[in-house]
Amino acid sequence: MSQARSSPAGLGPHVRALKHCTYCPKLCRFCCPTAEAERSETVTPWFKMTLAELTRLGRRAPAGGPAEVFQHCLGCLHCRTHCRHQNDVPGALLAARAVALEAGAAPPATTALLERFRARGNPWGEDLAAARSAAVPAELLVPEAQAVLFPGCQALRAPARHLTPLLGLLAALGVEHVGVFSGPEVCCGAPLWQAGDLQGLRAHGRALAQRLAPARTILCPCPTCAWVLGVVLREAGCAPSGQVVTLDAFLAPFLRAREPARQVPGRWVFHDPCYLTRYLERGETTRQALQGALREPLLESAWSGQDAACCGGGGLVPHSLPGVARQAAALRAAQLEASGAEGVVTACPGCVRQLGEAGPLPVKDWVELLAEAYAP
Ligand code: SF4
Ligand code: SF4
Repeated sequence: MSQARSSPAGLGPHVRALKHCTYCPKLCRFCCPTAEAERSETVTPWFKMTLAELTRLGRRAPAGGPAEVFQHCLGCLHCRTHCRHQNDVPGALLAARAVALEAGAAPPATTALLERFRARGNPWGEDLAAARSAAVPAELLVPEAQAVLFPGCQALRAPARHLTPLLGLLAALGVEHVGVFSGPEVCCGAPLWQAGDLQGLRAHGRALAQRLAPARTILCPCPTCAWVLGVVLREAGCAPSGQVVTLDAFLAPFLRAREPARQVPGRWVFHDPCYLTRYLERGETTRQALQGALREPLLESAWSGQDAACCGGGGLVPHSLPGVARQAAALRAAQLEASGAEGVVTACPGCVRQLGEAGPLPVKDWVELLAEAYAP
């Protein structure tokens, strides 16, 4: 994904994609979850990219319509799956958001989110460091640990569903010497990147890199954190020096070495988080790791893998356009329900929350099922 600069020239690296999209007969329109949720031509990838191109050319000022339209992207990358040119539409639209922010044209929801982030270090303005202290044994909060678990702010909003089972799973698998990140930067910085605040992102990234300096391994159970810490901050020139490792990669040797104590019953369907499957391309390895913990074969929805629809939780859309996020989640929940499953399992705390509020099926983090299977 290209790094954007916060000026109209920031759209420069995206010229090729912008031109392709502007002249495209909307070949990816059918898979764009915001266009489907809103049933509107003005939020198709084609239209959003056309407005970004007109902004780049100076034919439309970002204030007003364009700056608002740039928000209607979940960053899901589903359009790329069906794009012959492999266009990075969300990358261009994040650059367009940065242009709008620098021009003072960001929508009020964006500026409010940035104010909350500056105040508390996360997009909800909650005291998540306190939530972490309450959920994590003090002996694991070791600033100098060489292997560090970075829970991410989404998991810290519901630690009993994400962090507690993960710590139990690591203990059950005999994983030792992994501390939990104890710094005040509870969030990876994804909201700053997605809001177009590249200056804020770099400052946040530098603070994180300094705090994470002792860590040689940074374990990220949240795929968005893994992408931002491992790729976005590196492109922004402020990445931590340690190696960012996804949870499936970290767990693989431990899961191979042990049999689960039991297999979890029920028919479970897998929901692919966008950052896990389309950005990091780790959907299949996550499925394989999960399958061993289940009694029944893992089910797939009609739209899955690279073609899975977004849960509606990305791109800051739940903050800026909550109705659109809810409608996208409802569409995805209906697809998952149609698989005949009794429950949904996924691998991102944000997806768990978003889908859990959208449909009738129970939704679990995959670490909950693994923890149940491997508990002594
Ligand atoms: S991303 Fe590709 S398929 Fe979609 S509008 Fe642009 S050029 Fe067309
Ligand atoms: S990244 Fe997702 S939400 Fe954004 S334009 Fe592409 S398909 Fe639509």
